[in-house]
Amino acid sequence: MSNPQQLIRPDILALKAYHVQPAANMVKLDAMENPFGLPPTLCDELGETLGKLPVNRYPDASYATLKASLRRAFSLPDDMQLLLGNGSDEIIQILAMAVAKPGTAILSVEPSFVMYRMIATFCNMRYVGVPLKADFTLDLDATLAAIKREQPALVFLAYPNNPTGNHFEPAEIERIIHATPGLVVIDEAYQAFARDSFLPRLAEFDNVLVMRTVSKLGLAGLRLGYLVGAAQWLDELEKLRLPYNINVLTQHAAETVLGHIDVLNAQTQVLREERTKLFSALTTLPGIETFPSDANFILVRVPDANAVNAKLRAQGILIKNLDAAHPSLKNCLRLTVGAPEENQMLFEALKSALI
Ligand SMILES: *Cc1c(COP(=O)(O)O)cnc(C)c1O
Repeated sequence: MSNPQQLIRPDILALKAYHVQPAANMVKLDAMENPFGLPPTLCDELGETLGKLPVNRYPDASYATLKASLRRAFSLPDDMQLLLGNGSDEIIQILAMAVAKPGTAILSVEPSFVMYRMIATFCNMRYVGVPLKADFTLDLDATLAAIKREQPALVFLAYPNNPTGNHFEPAEIERIIHATPGLVVIDEAYQAFARDSFLPRLAEFDNVLVMRTVSKLGLAGLRLGYLVGAAQWLDELEKLRLPYNINVLTQHAAETVLGHIDVLNAQTQVLREERTKLFSALTTLPGIETFPSDANFILVRVPDANAVNAKLRAQGILIKNLDAAHPSLKNCLRLTVGAPEENQMLFEALKSALI
């Protein structure tokens, strides 16, 4: 009889589980959620629809109606295929499993989304993280050199990037696409708040896929992500998707809400305006450095992130302390843009913590 230390892979034993902070009764500004929730009429419609579903049956395996809803709501290009995931996290895992030949690498930039590295480990792949410059723009020379050296099977670029909030230069991304021997996945998790997208340009490149999610848009609880790209890639990836990975409640809840996409669009419009207001308010605080954002969060650097985080928490405000996450994030905090009154509370709390 073996024990876990003997049986489990050493690289898994060495991992720390993804940490989620307890959030009961807190103003929750740590996870890039949409704060607004759905209007009562839409909740009633959801209740009606979900209440009638045959949960004793497996879901429609093709997801044809859900895919049609996604295509309509987000104007996805007709000549591209869709792959659905239980969150875009699952899509990252499907991509990695598909290319994980012995010795192959996933490459991304750092700091960026932590799941790229974690999933590389899960799949026994090498992970190469190329540091961004101090202002969090791409270090193009270093990235191209790493691509040449490591020959990655997969490159992930979050556009805009999490946790830094910025868009990388499209012309530099293009250079990376042309230099990469493998697939380049443009992760557009924050598309609802962004100024630009690679989706309209998909047909220009034969090694690019665009990944998105409805999480940051306002449906984080449903767990639904999608990958858009050419059939030659998606037909292969489809083989790795577990059957019925999108459950019947998610499928129909998403269809119902996407039928009222104007509701979510109005909410994200308010959040973009709130982002502008919060950003300019933050710039008036002493000792704070603010990084411009095209997402629904703002990265800031303060003199003592641990102290500020503790003071906010004592006032019931939950944010993400990134101080220990990466050397270039020393004393950085990531603030999710919330509802107007939440942003006001956050601002007042930061002000009293900093003055
Ligand atoms: C939040 C986030 C995701 C994960 O989205 P889910 O669909 O909720 O799994 C993917 N990529 C980036 C860059 C994110 O910030």
